[in-house]
Amino acid sequence: MNKFISCQKPYSTAKIVLFGAGFDGTTSYRPGTRFAPDKIRSESFGIETYSPYLDRDLEDSNICDIGDLELPFGNTTRVLDMVESKTAEILADNKIPVMLGGEHLITLGAFKAVLKKYPEVCIVHFDAHTDLREEYIGEKLSHSTVIKRCHDEIQKQADNKKKTAKIIRIFQFGIRSGEKYEFEFAKANTYLCKNDFSGLDKILPIIKDKPVYFTVDLDVLDPSEFPGTGTPEAGGVRFLELLNATQKIFENSRVVMADIVELNPMIDTGGISTALACKYLRELLLQMGV
Ligand code: MN
Ligand code: MN
Repeated sequence: MNKFISCQKPYSTAKIVLFGAGFDGTTSYRPGTRFAPDKIRSESFGIETYSPYLDRDLEDSNICDIGDLELPFGNTTRVLDMVESKTAEILADNKIPVMLGGEHLITLGAFKAVLKKYPEVCIVHFDAHTDLREEYIGEKLSHSTVIKRCHDEIQKQADNKKKTAKIIRIFQFGIRSGEKYEFEFAKANTYLCKNDFSGLDKILPIIKDKPVYFTVDLDVLDPSEFPGTGTPEAGGVRFLELLNATQKIFENSRVVMADIVELNPMIDTGGISTALACKYLRELLLQMGV
């Protein structure tokens, strides 16, 4: 089986478990993210295992790549259930799951499992889009509603515990697209930083030592650096800004799960977006420092 470069340690002793969820059933514009996990793996042999940024090497890391979930395309709820149970299984083994999408909706399945294990978990969300729609063409489950659905899960949890005080637990960065009502919702219910990471330092004390679900929609990057995505959005961040912001999240919180979504190899002319995704995944894995 194809594995991400150097991620071949045995599952039983691995600290980080990488898996793919190549689902793109609700993609609204240009489909093809289902091919991303496999493409990232095969292209990973074109990058170094050593990171000059961190002075760490994947060769020394304790990571197991368990491959892709076999997902029933066309059955969104079952896909999400399968993502949830695989995530729960990895968490129960006291390992950190890192998931490769696929479209962004898969985050919902994984987040449900993480919320069960870590009831206090916060979400750090890098994306060009708010993903806070209530529904998309009548569908509640969509890549453009995913963060709203995660918010609903947090809300349900608060209702069950009869907590009334509202605590912000979703932190969004790089956002530059969405409907007006989504931004209004964000004002009251999430911390949203438009366009870049300028507001990041402000939230670091809030997430300090807290469990964090870290979800990275790669379209947060500027399309000039990352064109291979279904809904490119001009005015994004640069790769090095993304790396710096990622480092701050890892240094200041306890990331209990991460995902990287929305690479579409089908429209990745020249393969530059896939190459970037490989490099970013290496850095993300090395940030975990195990
Ligand atoms: Mn997006
Ligand atoms: Mn997204």
